[in-house]
Amino acid sequence: MKNYLPKQYLKDKKFDLKHNYLSEQFSNYKSILKKFEKVILNNDFTLGKKVDEFEKKISKLLSTKYVVAVGSGTDAIMLSLKALNIGEGDEVITTPYTFYATIGAIVTAGAKPVFVDVKYDYNINPDLIEKKITKKTKAILVVHWSGRICEMDKISKIAKRHSLHIVEDACHAITATYKKTFAGKFGDFGCFSLHPLKNLNIWGDGGFLVAKNKKYYEKIKLLRNHGLINRNTNKIFGYNSRLDTLQAVVAIELLKKLKFITNSRINNSKYLDKYLKKINNVITKERRENLNEVFHLYEFRVINKKLRDKLLKTLIKNKIDAKVHYPVPMHLQPASKIYGYKKGDFPITEMLADTSISLPVHEFIRTKHLNKIINVIKNKLDDK
Ligand SMILES: *Cc1c(COP(=O)(O)O)cnc(C)c1O
Repeated sequence: MKNYLPKQYLKDKKFDLKHNYLSEQFSNYKSILKKFEKVILNNDFTLGKKVDEFEKKISKLLSTKYVVAVGSGTDAIMLSLKALNIGEGDEVITTPYTFYATIGAIVTAGAKPVFVDVKYDYNINPDLIEKKITKKTKAILVVHWSGRICEMDKISKIAKRHSLHIVEDACHAITATYKKTFAGKFGDFGCFSLHPLKNLNIWGDGGFLVAKNKKYYEKIKLLRNHGLINRNTNKIFGYNSRLDTLQAVVAIELLKKLKFITNSRINNSKYLDKYLKKINNVITKERRENLNEVFHLYEFRVINKKLRDKLLKTLIKNKIDAKVHYPVPMHLQPASKIYGYKKGDFPITEMLADTSISLPVHEFIRTKHLNKIINVIKNKLDDK
């Protein structure tokens, strides 16, 4: 049986510089296994003490009271929409330049995704949002792509003017800030993933949400656990989406390293920015003073698709795991066919998908690796 898991985890072996760094990260896994023992001996598997502890630690990290750990980042988004009573017949404005899960969560909630093109920073273009608002629009679902927060001043104003909710897909953006406010704290809900390849990760699936107020917090706590207020009372119908207690143990351990992980990503990205900027035919992102990006991905653009595709091949030939996140935007995916979009509908999104490359910048990438990457790109593009 085919299980549709990407084969990349096997293919990764051929690269020297990989996006996947998990074997290095967990070389010291035995100390975590030791901590599992306590959970196992206490039979504390579902919503155990360690889940509470993890939520408290995230609360402290992001200075917010209302954190709820759930089964995945996708669930965090879906549960947010459910908590806001968004579903059948409702529209949610979002970006086509995102990971499948953002849109899948909207559709699972029962609502219709309505796409708005992005800007050159890969984030939703606030100036195009109002044109897409209809009577059915209930929320704007922003995606802080690659750990760069959207233009939340403008977006919050639009949401206020039209009485719309804001949900943040902050799965790339843990501890990113915009004008000193953390990702996840602009909207009614901020949604985070703990997937193995996210900035804060665990040994499987998990996620959490930041809720804007107590009411939303209570609602999510109900929704994640069948809507139970106690063993015998089912207040509302809900879901089973709890962060596994064993995974909470892993998350707490990794949280100790988050600052280091984030700083490594930032420093590696700044280094790439500095040198890639000087290469002909390369376009790096414009950076902003009031934004602290956390670089879940490091993306840059090549002047055209043909040259991008050539460079991608060359990087891979040099054992550098360069990727495109993602070559086919959401509005052109087979699953989106029902919405009737076509090529040309979102020109900036399509241009970015055609010309971008993403490079690994995680904590195991050293300056010598970056220099290798820079040299390969320079040799390929500088004289073209
Ligand atoms: C990873 C990711 C998600 C989904 O998170 P999971 O924990 O894998 O369900 C949602 N949105 C974006 C942008 C992501 O990168």
